[in-house]
Amino acid sequence: MNTNVISPDTGERLLDMIKDGAMVLDRAGTIIWANRAIRDLLGATDALRGCRLGDLLMASVPTETLLADRSAPSGRSKWLVATAIRSGTELLVSTQYRPQTEEFTVVARPFTSAVSNFDRVISFATRDDVTQLMNRDAFEERLSAAIERNEAGCVICADVDQFSTINEVYGHAEGDALLRAVAHRTRSSMGVDLQVARLYGGRFAAFIAADSDEAAQRLAGETSERLHHVMLPLFSICGGVQPISFSIGVARWRVDGVSADDLLAAAETAVHSVRAGSDKTRWFESAMLAERRRFFETEAELRLAIEQNALTLHYQPKVSAADLSIVGFEALVRWNHPTKGMISPGFFVPVAEQSNLIIDLGRWVLREACRQQAEWRAQGLKLVPVAVNVSPQQLLSQPISVLLAPLTEYGIDLDLLEIEITESAMMDRLPMATKVIESLRQSGLHISIDDFGTGHSSLGNLRRLPIDVLKIDRSFVEDIDRSQEAYDIVATIVAMAKTMSLNLVAEGVETIEQAKLLQAHGVDVMQGYLFHKPMPGDAAGRLLGSATGQADTF
Ligand code: C2E
Ligand code: CA
Ligand code: CA
Repeated sequence: MNTNVISPDTGERLLDMIKDGAMVLDRAGTIIWANRAIRDLLGATDALRGCRLGDLLMASVPTETLLADRSAPSGRSKWLVATAIRSGTELLVSTQYRPQTEEFTVVARPFTSAVSNFDRVISFATRDDVTQLMNRDAFEERLSAAIERNEAGCVICADVDQFSTINEVYGHAEGDALLRAVAHRTRSSMGVDLQVARLYGGRFAAFIAADSDEAAQRLAGETSERLHHVMLPLFSICGGVQPISFSIGVARWRVDGVSADDLLAAAETAVHSVRAGSDKTRWFESAMLAERRRFFETEAELRLAIEQNALTLHYQPKVSAADLSIVGFEALVRWNHPTKGMISPGFFVPVAEQSNLIIDLGRWVLREACRQQAEWRAQGLKLVPVAVNVSPQQLLSQPISVLLAPLTEYGIDLDLLEIEITESAMMDRLPMATKVIESLRQSGLHISIDDFGTGHSSLGNLRRLPIDVLKIDRSFVEDIDRSQEAYDIVATIVAMAKTMSLNLVAEGVETIEQAKLLQAHGVDVMQGYLFHKPMPGDAAGRLLGSATGQADTF
């Protein structure tokens, strides 16, 4: 009897006992047989027979390349570092073709630090080294393969809101830690079936394959809901906690594009159309491309306008409710466009806010307001404070000393400049904004909360903010003589402001009835077309010079 021969059953049992993962594939790459170790390594719960290697492993090159060249001399192995899609385990995989049986033997073991640097380099090429998720290249490759294999599917692109600001304010180490926390939450909530990648910055992506468009859309809808949901608990950043959210864009295979490249671009376009106050998930529509193109054109033109000094400031007087004397101005930016004429900030400020242009624009506005003050002073006019509107990005992106440099340059006192920040912008970024506002306040600047009443701030939050002025939003002023609700809201805001010793400004006052009610409520300052419209600097200067001629009653 030949003792070297063992029965097939015993052989399989012995192979199940070895630590290395082993499997045999037919010449088309379908698994014929797999041992227990490889099932564990791949995180497979079912038998692997009939599965394809490419569905189980992910690598920087298609796993099929391991099987492509059957002419390699027998006994010579091909090697690859790959990630088991289900378990996420990093594996070193080798294949060997056996011409006699026309089969491949595949051996896999966990990839450890003992493996050579060369192989690590291959692994790094597929991974994002901050989050250990797939990187963009690996994602696009897997997506291309999935588009080829499946009828329907969706690409989901999820952008961490304000990520670049967080990076700037708290530093890159905190930014990276946040990305890891986000990656961890998304990965653990998504299960093993959904592959998540980080594309760059705070931008993540995933795709879903399905049998039909309906199924794909339903799954993508559920997935984006889940992604928003996992972000709900606060994140810890720099020892404090912050609310962090995603904006999500979704693109459908074959409907919105055919290649991985097109689909990713479509999903990213959809992300850009998420606006403050809009739905946080947007599905790609072709109209978004035109909108995006318009956005880029406006941005480019605006950049030029800032460089070429084609912006101008108009000044709207604020009057005392007691005697209607001018107690300040609000500076409002205008764009004198060569073909379109005077463009309102409602059109271009949101474009600037979505790009870093708002920082340049804000810097120009502040400097111009100081220059104007210096000009009025040179004309011998009695100066009043000028309020400038600032966006939080502008405050957060530069040191206070840089922000305030124009004051020094033109020798303007701190109490002649006021900063207006909208309530909603402030509340969206409360912990960060508080930090910056505190330092602004410490420098002696006056801070005003704009559009107050629209941003849902709590009294508690307000008390913590070192502010001086509340500007009651125009919508309440507009309705004060028509709606009991608006009347009551104004009364509440006034009572609250009084307990906190804040000054109250009512904006958008258009009628005498509104003005009388506001005066009766105890509002300190009024601003609106009833008194003055915004006007160029020279007209504002003339008005300042003749300010004594104001009527003191209605
Ligand atoms: P805002 O800060 O709430 O400015 C008040 C807006 O109401 C101005 O519109 C002003 O012209 C308008 N207004 C004033 N009185 C009345 C009135 O009695 N009735 C009506 N219907 N409207 C009145 P504008 O100049 O078009 O500015 C729109 C917004 O653009 C501003 O709203 C502000 O949020 C933003 N903005 C303006 N200038 C700047 C700037 O320099 N930087 C930044 N970041 N934002 C700016
Ligand atoms: Ca304002
Ligand atoms: Ca306002």
